[in-house]
Amino acid sequence: MHIHLKDYRQLLATYLRPQLSRVILLTLLLFGDIALQLINPQLIRLFIDTITSSGPQGVLLPIALLFIVVAVVQQGVKLWATYISECVGWIATNALRIDLTLHLLRLDLSFHKVHTPGELIERVDGDISALSIFFSQFVIQIVGNLLLLFGIILVLFFQDWRAALALGISALLLLIGVNVLRNISIPHWKIFRQSSAELYGFLEERISGTEDIRSSGAQAYMLRRLYRYTRERLRTARKARIISTIPWNVPNFMFALMTLTAFLLIAQFYRNGTMTLGMAFLIYFYTQLLWQPINAISHQIEDFQKASAGIVRIRELLSIESNLKDGPGATFPPGALPLVCENISFGYGEAEMVIKNLSFQLAPGEVLGLLGRTGSGKTTITRLIARLYDPEAGVIRLGGVDLRSASFADLRKAIGMVTQDVQLFHATVRDNLTFFDHTIEDSCIVSALGDLGLNDWYTALPNGLDTILPPNGGGLSAGEAQLLAFARIFLCDPALVILDEASSRLDPATEGLLEQAIDKLLQGRTAIIIAHRLRTLQRADTILLLDDGEICEYGPRAQLANSSDSRFSQLLLTAHEEVLV
Ligand code: ATP
Ligand code: MG
Repeated sequence: MHIHLKDYRQLLATYLRPQLSRVILLTLLLFGDIALQLINPQLIRLFIDTITSSGPQGVLLPIALLFIVVAVVQQGVKLWATYISECVGWIATNALRIDLTLHLLRLDLSFHKVHTPGELIERVDGDISALSIFFSQFVIQIVGNLLLLFGIILVLFFQDWRAALALGISALLLLIGVNVLRNISIPHWKIFRQSSAELYGFLEERISGTEDIRSSGAQAYMLRRLYRYTRERLRTARKARIISTIPWNVPNFMFALMTLTAFLLIAQFYRNGTMTLGMAFLIYFYTQLLWQPINAISHQIEDFQKASAGIVRIRELLSIESNLKDGPGATFPPGALPLVCENISFGYGEAEMVIKNLSFQLAPGEVLGLLGRTGSGKTTITRLIARLYDPEAGVIRLGGVDLRSASFADLRKAIGMVTQDVQLFHATVRDNLTFFDHTIEDSCIVSALGDLGLNDWYTALPNGLDTILPPNGGGLSAGEAQLLAFARIFLCDPALVILDEASSRLDPATEGLLEQAIDKLLQGRTAIIIAHRLRTLQRADTILLLDDGEICEYGPRAQLANSSDSRFSQLLLTAHEEVLV
C-alpha cells in the first residue's frame, strides 16, 4: 500500500484542525526559537570585532549581557514549545487511537478470530505512538528548519556572498541527498512494527492462559517461544534502525566536507586581508549553525519514516470493512417475538458448511430445546440469530423483520444471550450487571439478584453494588458467574432469550435455584435453550435435534418423548434422567 502526499495532508487536517489555536502557538514558538538562534552569532561577531578593532570598549559588557539574555530566552521558548508540542502530539494521537479502536470494535467476529487482542492493542497503541512527532512537529520542524537554513545563507550573503554561495550549494546537495534516501527504511520499520504486534499478541494470549500453561508444565516451551519472538523483534528493530541511519549518516559525511570548504575559504580570505577575524568567526559559526537545521531535518526524516510505516499499517486496518453492515433499523412489536429461520446455510471462512440448509420457526413465547453432539453447530445457530455472523444463504426473521434490516442496536435490545463462556469485567457489580447502562435503577438490580436467589451473595458484598469484581471474574465460582449473566438478561428484558449450556456448570443446589429463575425469565419471551443435560430441557415446547448442521429430528417435545422410535426418546432412556413429559 502506497501513501501519497494527500494522505498525510488529510491526516494532519483531520487531527490538527480541532486544536488549531494550539498549533498556531506552537508554530510561533518554533519560529521564535529559530529566529533567536540567528541573533547570537551576530552578537559574538560584534564582540570579537569590538575587541580586535580600537572601537569603544564600554559596549562589551552590554553585548555580553544581551548575549546571555537572548540565550536564556531562547531556552525558555524551546521549553514552552516542547510542552505545547507534546500536548498537540498526544491530543492528536489519542483521537486517532479512539477512531481506530471504534473501527476495530465495529469489525465482525471473523476479523477478531484471526487477530489476538494483544496484537490489536499493540497496533492501536504502538503504531500510533510512532505518529506523535509527525503530528506535533514534523511540518513545522521541516518548514522551520528550511527557513533557518535559508535565513543563515541569506544573512551570510549580506556579509560575504562568496561564502554564502559555497555553503548554499553544499546545503542544496545535502538536502537532495536526504530526499533521495528518505523512503529507504519504511518497509523495514513496517516489518518491525509487525513483529512487535506479534510479540504482544503472543504475550497477551499466553498470560491469559497462565493457569493452563502452568498446570500442563509448558512454561519452558512458552519461554522458548518468547525468546524466539523477542529475538525476531530485536533483529527487525536492528535492521530498521541501521538502515534508517543511512539518510542521517550521508548528510553527516557531506557536512564534514562543507566544514572543510568553509575553513579553506576563511583561511584564504583572512590571509588576503579581505576578511576581519570577527567575520571569519561569523562564517565559521554560521557553518556550524547550518548543521542544526540539516541535522534536524535528517532526524525528522527518520521519524517520518517510522510514522509512515505506522500510517501504512493504520490505513490497512482502516480499509478492512466489516462483513456485517448495520441495518437501517426496525421497530419490533412489544412482547414475545416469533422467530423464523428459512433455509439458512453457513460456514466459517473457506471451511465446509457448519449449518446446512436449516429451517425452523418459533411462535411468540415458544421455547425451543436445541440438542446435538458437540460440534454439531448449536452455538453457531445462536451466533447467526444474534447476528454476530450473517448466513451465506437463507434469511432469519425476528418479529417478521429480516435481521439484516434491523440495526445492531435494535437487535442487542431484542435478544438476550447467555453464552458458554461468561465474561465478567474488572468493574463494579452494578456495571457488570447493567453493562455500563446507568439508566437502570439500583432497585431493579437488587430485585433481579433476589429473583435469582443471589440475595445472600449480594448482602455479603462489602460495598454492595459498588463492590469491584476482581479481574477476569476471579473470586467468583463458575456457577455464580453464570447466575450473574442471568441477572444481566433480567435487566435488559429482551423479547428473545438464548441460553447456551447455561446450567451445565452449576451444582444441583444452584441449578435448582436457576430452574426457578429460568421459569420466570421465559415468561412472555420466546427462547432457545441449548443443553447437553436433558433435564434442563423440561420446559421446551419443541425439540430440535441437530446432527452435523442438519435437522435430525424436529417436533413437539411431548410427542417426541412419547414416540418410542424417536432419537429423543432413546436419548432420554440412555441418559437415565427424569424428564417431565
Ligand atoms: P458444543 O456442544 O461443543 O458447544 P456446538 O454444537 O455449539 O458444540 P459449534 O460451536 O456451533 O458447535 O461449532 C460447530 C462447528 O463449527 C465445529 O466444527 C467447530 O469446529 C466450528 N467452529 C466453531 N466456531 C468456529 C470459528 N470461530 N471458526 C471456525 N470454525 C468454527
Ligand atoms: Mg456450543
